[in-house]
Amino acid sequence: MTSNVVSAAYIVSAVFFVLSLAGLSKHESAKEGNAYGVTGMVIALGATVWLTLSRSEHALATLLLIALAMAIGAAIGLWRARKVEMTQMPELVAMLHSFVGLAAVLVGFNSHLTVGDASDTIHSVEVFLGVFIGAVTLTGSVVAFLKLSARIASTPLMLPARHWLNLAALVVSALLMVWFVQSHSVVPLLLMTVIALAFGWHLVASIGGGDMPVVVSMLNSYSGWAAAAAGFMLGNDLLIVTGALVGASGAILSWIMCRAMNRSFVSVIAGGFGQEVALGDDKDYGEHREITAEGAADLLRDASSVIITPGYGMAVAQAQYPVAELTKRLRDRGVDVRFGIHPVAGRLPGHMNVLLAEAKVPYDIVLEMDEVNDDFPSTDVVLVIGANDTVNPAAAEDPTSPIAGMPVLQVWNARDVVVFKRSMATGYAGVQNPLFFRENSQMLFGDAKQRVDDILTAL
Ligand code: NDP
Repeated sequence: MTSNVVSAAYIVSAVFFVLSLAGLSKHESAKEGNAYGVTGMVIALGATVWLTLSRSEHALATLLLIALAMAIGAAIGLWRARKVEMTQMPELVAMLHSFVGLAAVLVGFNSHLTVGDASDTIHSVEVFLGVFIGAVTLTGSVVAFLKLSARIASTPLMLPARHWLNLAALVVSALLMVWFVQSHSVVPLLLMTVIALAFGWHLVASIGGGDMPVVVSMLNSYSGWAAAAAGFMLGNDLLIVTGALVGASGAILSWIMCRAMNRSFVSVIAGGFGQEVALGDDKDYGEHREITAEGAADLLRDASSVIITPGYGMAVAQAQYPVAELTKRLRDRGVDVRFGIHPVAGRLPGHMNVLLAEAKVPYDIVLEMDEVNDDFPSTDVVLVIGANDTVNPAAAEDPTSPIAGMPVLQVWNARDVVVFKRSMATGYAGVQNPLFFRENSQMLFGDAKQRVDDILTAL
């Protein structure tokens, strides 16, 4: 009886999770999407706790243990969620993925040590694959966390024969699986875990800065498969369904991002894109020109069309509120103002859209890169607010650039370009940006929020 009710609850949860994904795929329905996800999760948790208690011989002790674990987890989760800055979101997400990987490894070992049926080949394969995927996700996510939080350099690690190393890790793991299935010994499982941990580390360490967006969504996908593997090991249908949903949606997102960046998915995950070029090159790009906030205000006063291309710096400066105010003022004066959003602007998919929605910028003037790229030649002024890699002409014009081939916002085709940033420093990919030295570009140095406020005052 209990298990029937729990199965029914799981189906209801799974439907909520599907609705949640559908809702989250559009700005307008994202809030409902979130609410569906929370509802599904509450039902799933309630049903799982009930199922566990009904099977336990020491229901009270089990309940207390679950409550204790949940209280500690919830306290840490609440503390982190309240403290985290929007700009630290990607690294937080990367860290959370590592927990899913760790959980799959622990569930795998626990399942191997407690389910003693050596003749169950399918279970052994499930355990082996679950631990493998979990271990790769664990260390891969830790490296992603370290790179995104700038605790280690974002440049790709270039070991000699790195593709052969990866291949060797896969082949040896496959052989260890045969040994494990036949012997049911913990030794091959342990050996594979060490290899998989090193493999996950190497896989992400060898991916360069500009390709990190794909890694983040790829690890998201891996964490889904790790959860699905744990579901198989625990015989939990909902975990399998949920893991598959996360795994598949992460894979689709990775594919979409690769397409947006004109990258081949396989080459990105094999690592080492753009390694041929030394980063921070000392090529002479010429002189840059500077402009003051008053000068920028003058340009805007005379403009009839303006495109704003925000990037990571807008998020750091939290400049979205004055930017929204500036947009409103200009629109009130009859200026045609639009936003051009690069698919990998910021540090996580949809980063800029979230910030602009937060500041109540109307959705209909927030356009995707492909929708505005042809309009730059007929635009008077482009405001590049804290964006760098996503507006770098080298991606389109210099085949030796580490970001060559990545489609970018072609802001340099506009009449005037004003670049808001604090210095001449490079962006996330660590490549210099020739845009800053173009004749129609002018640098407006300083914190983006401060400078937009100054323009508002001058206007
Ligand atoms: P970039 O990271 O290329 O550049 C951001 C610029 O903002 C910097 O050059 C910095 O210059 C400037 N900046 C920082 N703080 C401020 C501030 N307070 N005020 C004004 N300017 C500031 O940004 P983009 O958004 O153009 O590109 C995103 C990059 O991140 C791409 O390389 C992408 O591949 C990568 N990435 C994207 C992910 C995603 O999913 N979207 C995930 C992981 C990586 P300065 O220091 O001189 O101020």
